[in-house]
This record gives sequence, structure tokens and C-alpha cells, in this order.
Amino acid sequence: MNRNFTAVCAALLMCAILIVFLGSFAVAKSSISIAATTDDIVSDKVIYLTFDDGPSDRVTPKILDVLNEENVKATFFIVGKSAENRKPLVKRIYDEGHTVAVHSYSHVYNEIYSSAESLIKDIDKCNSLIREITGKPSSVYRFPGGSFGLSKKLIDAVTRHGMRYVDWNASTRDAEFYNPTPQQIYNAAVTTPVFPESIVLLAHDSTTKTATAQALKSIISYYKKNGYVFAAY
Ligand SMILES: [Zn+2]
Repeated sequence: MNRNFTAVCAALLMCAILIVFLGSFAVAKSSISIAATTDDIVSDKVIYLTFDDGPSDRVTPKILDVLNEENVKATFFIVGKSAENRKPLVKRIYDEGHTVAVHSYSHVYNEIYSSAESLIKDIDKCNSLIREITGKPSSVYRFPGGSFGLSKKLIDAVTRHGMRYVDWNASTRDAEFYNPTPQQIYNAAVTTPVFPESIVLLAHDSTTKTATAQALKSIISYYKKNGYVFAAY
């Protein structure tokens, strides 16, 4: 009797162990499916690569070559006075599927920010050049230096003019370092995002930014590996 009782207890114990085991397997399985869902969300992360202050003969073509190799589209906020003598290069940016957007014609802060009228005049001058080269004006704008700290009057003038302005929330810091190495640019680009679900990365394609062009492939690889989709405005 006792032996039977022990056998029943043992059987019950085995059942309990089996239930716990299957239960933990089910939990593990559901964790796996949660992980898969998270992976799906990860692929919804977006990064906008943005290049300011170009075009330049030295850096812009190198950046375009890397973007082509990686099949990634970007946004170029151009400076009109640099584009005047480089119209074929601006056309190349456009023809390769990137966005050509307005940064400034002169990029001289105390001129463009002296009044709302000056600012709009500067934007229009840059935009008429974009229209001449690509066949259509852009409605995307980046304030030289960003909108941070600018008066509401200036910002309102731009939006009333039909322009959507874009700042950034991550930076290669290629305008802050003195003579940076590609490694420094890469490190900054992958560590500064403030809103990792939607990154707008600031970079420059002006003539001194060769390290940016050299770092670009690694930056793109990093964000591809981390499940980001690349977008342009
Ligand atoms: Zn600029």
C-alpha cells in the first residue's frame, strides 16, 4: 500500500516536473516570438543621412560613390554659391535619387539672419538655382547652424514661405573636430543619437570633410547591422 502510495506520489511528481518543464518551454517560446516582433520593430527604425554645406569637388563625389555602393539615399542641403560652378555635380546628386534641399545661398550668418526678408531672399536665391538644375524647387530647408536659438519671427517666416525645416538629433561632429580621423567621425555618428527610433544625422560634404567621406561606409554598415532603414526627405 505504502509502496503504491509512493509510486503514485512519484508519478504525480513526474507530472508536475513535466508541466513545469513544458510551461517554461512555452514561456521560452513566447519570449522567442516577442523577440521576433521586436526585430520587426527594429526594422522600422529610420535614419536620415544629411549633408550640409556642399557641393564640393573634393568630397561630394566620394560621398555619392559610397551611397551608390551601399544603395542608400540621402539629403544634401546645398549652398547656392558653391553650387553655381558645380551644376553638373548637383545634377548628379539629383539624378542618383538623392534629395537636393535648400541650406543657403551665401551661408553668411549676419547677412541672412539680419531680417526675415533677407532670410527669405537667401532661400529663394538658392532655390531658384535648384529649380534651374533639377527642374523643380525644394520645399525642404535647413537653417545654417540649425533653428536652435533663432527667433520665432525668423522661423515663422520660413514656414509661412512654404518651407519645411529640418534640424538634426545626431551628429558626425565633423564641423566641431579639428582635422578629425575617420574613426572619430564614425564614433560620433554611432554614439550621439538622441532619439534612436528616428535619427537625423548631421554631416558635411564641404571641401575639408574628407574624413566624413572615408567614415561613411562604416557608419552605413553600423546602422544597417542595427536594423535601420535609410530615408531621404
Ligand atoms: Zn551650414
